[in-house]
Amino acid sequence: MARKKKIEYHSYTEGTIRYMSCMTCGHYEVVGESATGVRCSNCVMKTMMNQYPQEESKSYKPTGRPAGWHWMNEFVDKDGNVFHKGKEMKKLKGTLPSTKVSPPKKKKIKRRTKQQMLLAMDAERKAELKKAHQKQKDFINHNIDKG
Ligand SMILES: [Zn+2]
Repeated sequence: MARKKKIEYHSYTEGTIRYMSCMTCGHYEVVGESATGVRCSNCVMKTMMNQYPQEESKSYKPTGRPAGWHWMNEFVDKDGNVFHKGKEMKKLKGTLPSTKVSPPKKKKIKRRTKQQMLLAMDAERKAELKKAHQKQKDFINHNIDKG
């Protein structure tokens, strides 16, 4: 009885760890015992990016409404439109002051590598130190000016 042979991607073991070559780019990836095909994280990421292009963020137009505004009991937008739990209350339009919205935090879309992140953190820390230094200097100078 001839069993149809499954396609197996090239793999090797090192100690107890099994590596298999990525289906897409050939990069070796750590896999489990039973894996017959693997895609490395880079290729998975690429596929995801292709499947879910970041259109949402590109075409995102700020409405000036906070996230979850349609769950609020009462929300008045900047044009005076009144919403009760997301339902527009046309009769109330312009009768209420618009709900104050704190500006949304900017989302960082750009993915950074760990190293870039560490570098950025380092730069930030240095900038903070510089600022602190400057503050101290200003403080001293100020005192001298006054005296
Ligand atoms: Zn790959």
